Amino acid sequence: MKISNFYGILTFNDRIMKSKLSHEVYKRFKYAIKNGKPISKELAECIAHALKEWAIENNCTHYTHWFHPLTGLTAEKHDSFLQFDENFSPIERFKAEELIQGEPDASSFPSGGTRSTFEARGYTAWDPQSPCFIMEGKKTNTLCIPSVFLSYNGDALDKKSILLKSIKALELSAKKLLNVCGFNVPERIFVTTGPEQEYYLLDQKVYRMREDLMVTGRTLIGAPAIKGQKLEDHYFGNIPDRVKYFMEDVEISLYKLGVPAKTRHNEVAPCQYELAPVFEELNIAADHNHLVMTVLKKKAKEHGFALLLHEKPFKGLNGSGKHNNWSISDEKGTNYLSPGQNRKEFLRFLVFLVGVINGVYKHEKFVRASVATAANDHRLGGNEAPPSIISVFVGDALTKVLEGLKKGSFLEPEGGRTLEIGLSYIPQIERHNTDRNRTSPVAFTGNKFEFRAVGSSQPLGLPNTILNAAVGDSFDEISELVKNEVSSGKKTEEAILTALSKVLKKCYKIVFNGNGYSREWQQEAKRRGLSNLRTTPEALKSTFGNRKERDFLIKMKILSDRELDARLNIKYDQYSKIIEIESKMLVKMIKRYVRNAVYEQFRFFKSIDINNAVYFKAKKEMEAKTKALEREILNFERMEEEEKKAFFAANTILPLMNELRAIVDLLEQETDKKLWPLPDYDTMLTM
Ligand code: ADP
Ligand code: MG
Repeated sequence: MKISNFYGILTFNDRIMKSKLSHEVYKRFKYAIKNGKPISKELAECIAHALKEWAIENNCTHYTHWFHPLTGLTAEKHDSFLQFDENFSPIERFKAEELIQGEPDASSFPSGGTRSTFEARGYTAWDPQSPCFIMEGKKTNTLCIPSVFLSYNGDALDKKSILLKSIKALELSAKKLLNVCGFNVPERIFVTTGPEQEYYLLDQKVYRMREDLMVTGRTLIGAPAIKGQKLEDHYFGNIPDRVKYFMEDVEISLYKLGVPAKTRHNEVAPCQYELAPVFEELNIAADHNHLVMTVLKKKAKEHGFALLLHEKPFKGLNGSGKHNNWSISDEKGTNYLSPGQNRKEFLRFLVFLVGVINGVYKHEKFVRASVATAANDHRLGGNEAPPSIISVFVGDALTKVLEGLKKGSFLEPEGGRTLEIGLSYIPQIERHNTDRNRTSPVAFTGNKFEFRAVGSSQPLGLPNTILNAAVGDSFDEISELVKNEVSSGKKTEEAILTALSKVLKKCYKIVFNGNGYSREWQQEAKRRGLSNLRTTPEALKSTFGNRKERDFLIKMKILSDRELDARLNIKYDQYSKIIEIESKMLVKMIKRYVRNAVYEQFRFFKSIDINNAVYFKAKKEMEAKTKALEREILNFERMEEEEKKAFFAANTILPLMNELRAIVDLLEQETDKKLWPLPDYDTMLTM
């Protein structure tokens, strides 16, 4: 099989455009895409026609605007190409207006109050930067048009539109910075991203027996596995045949869609796997990551598996994340986070490196909030994933360079090595060192940053929007500093070094190369004044809900006041609803599954005169705590205010759920397997 033979055959790619569009139209379309110029109605008419022809040749009967509403999923509403001409004969048509703009009945998408329901229409608008693609169905196929989703007064109701704005903002800031520092300014600057996607794969049969998994995506009860990941025999191990067959099927689908799936391997926990693509431009990478998640889910079902994208499906086992590899590039392929080949390039690298570190420092709270969800909280708090304290890892070699820079010395990093020697070893050393430290939420890995706190089920939109904006804001600050130094008479290089030194003096406290899981780090971080926002409501309140913190997003025109308010409401609401569903499901699990088993076991103990005091006590506690939880759920339901509800869910409901779980898990370990109606961890995690 030769991948290149069928790679991208289901996308309206360059080759197909060349064959379907006239040369003139092709050239104008490419120009518009490359330069982010608007596409005229007339041009869109030609493209719509070609798209339709191509789609019909490929068995499409319908088309859809494909967008990313604030639910965190993708949305689509299919319309057929079918129309009737003046003689009422059926005919396939696709007009420019239909390509450019769609009108889903959007009243049921979350808007957080930006769009009242009586004025329910939002509209979707085609994003020509991301290629249209064909989703295959059992009988017919559908043409998908990547789109943004806006309200009629222009408020962003989706994740793509703000991502696009942040990419543009970062481009402007980076160009300004290059210009001020006297470096070459390229035609285009953009972000590149490679998201490593982790997931769990379970047998469909055991999955179907766990209502908690099916409804909430995670096990709400379940005693620890005996083996679990203790032997570490799964990581990079042999991929089971059945799973490999599934992966091949996934990859073939993705290749046809032009998604560059590259790496597959077993992860640390049993039944946990990873798929990593080759990096692409961020906007495309974000769309493609949605396709990866969609295809994984679909194929899992076909192969008799259940796919778990939840960040923490199993207590005591590693959670799943989405390491978000992030860098800055230009149209010639220059990577601005690569240390470079000569002195000038190395200086430029340092400007960008410090720029990113300072951006993360300035907006650490928002960086944390950008990955805050009910599910990801289990992972970020736990002792295995990046903690909820945001820090940046740079490795030993660069630490020396940065510490020198902070003191104002550029040429002689510590140890008396000259820059030239330093230069040649830095990239190599970094590449080998860096992946050892898996505890850092933001790690420099040789020629890119890896934002590791992103959750496995999270779309790339928000985390990258915030990262781009934070870095853009920091670039602007550095540009100003350099400008001031130059106008006070310094030569450019001296001005840059002084500016970087000043910035580092302020932001260096975010750099941390040690063990992020350790207790000492929590204390140390506190001393350094870094925040530790443990729960989603805390993270939201101190960012989206904080005028001062969110100001930079408004200033950079990425999100408006109204859009920020809306997102805050939606996020509180989503958080509360998830905890509400989980808590009610936990009560249901106890009443409908667990309780009967426990009482049977209890009767048995009594019948043979076993005095299992622990069991008896736990049974009583289970009843009491279940009652208490039900009471608090009622209290929760009576509350109206979003913020209050979210905090109540985090601080009252969730801890109670955890206590209750501990009791149930204890009971499970003492109950006969024949009585316990749920598959246990060892059973679920063996395939
Ligand atoms: P590791 O992180 O283990 O060193 P790789 O270097 O192979 O592994 O990269 C992991 C992911 O990072 C891949 O998806 C890869 O495409 C992506 N990546 C590599 N270089 C860049 C870059 N310049 N910008 C964004 N992502 C990148
Ligand atoms: Mg990696």
